Amino acid sequence: MKVPREVGKHTRNKIHAENDPYLPPKGKGLAGVAICKGCTAVYQNKKWFLDVKLYEKKKTLKGITWVTCPACKKTKENVPNGVVTLKGDFLKQHKQEIMNLIHNEDARSKKYNPLKRIMKINETGGEIEILTTEGRMAQRIGSILFKAYSGEVVYKKHENTKFMRVEWKR
Ligand SMILES: [Zn+2]
Repeated sequence: MKVPREVGKHTRNKIHAENDPYLPPKGKGLAGVAICKGCTAVYQNKKWFLDVKLYEKKKTLKGITWVTCPACKKTKENVPNGVVTLKGDFLKQHKQEIMNLIHNEDARSKKYNPLKRIMKINETGGEIEILTTEGRMAQRIGSILFKAYSGEVVYKKHENTKFMRVEWKR
C-alpha cells in the first residue's frame, strides 16, 4: 500500500493545469468577471469564488460573462478526477456520521476553491461511491476518514495524470 504525502490541504489551487483539459492553460484564463450559471461561482482576478454576497453584488453588473465553470462542466459530462469508494460493516452502522464528515469537508473545500468539490454520490448495495472534480479532493476524503475512524485506506494514483482512486474500508 502506497500512501502519498498529503498535498494541497487548504491552499487555493492555481486554476490552470497541464493535465486537466477542463482548466484553461497558463495565462489564458477568462478576461474580466464571469459567473457560473450552474453554481453561481464568481470568477475574478483569475480565481473562482463561491460566495453568495459576492454573487449578489456582481450579478447585476453590466458586462458580466455567464459561463459554465470547469467544475459544473465536469459534473455535467460526468468526468470525475477522483473516485472514493467506501465499504464495510462499520460504514453501514455509522453512515450518517461518516457522510456528515464528508459533506463538511466538501463545504470547506468549496469555500477555498469552488473547483475542488464533490460532483456526485452513488450508493449501491452497502457501498458508497463519491466522485470528485479533483484527485486531491478524493485523497483528502480518504485521509480524513482514516484519521477519524482508522480502517483501511488505499490510494491509487496513475502516473502523469491527476486522476486518483481511493478506497476506504471498515
Ligand atoms: Zn459552476
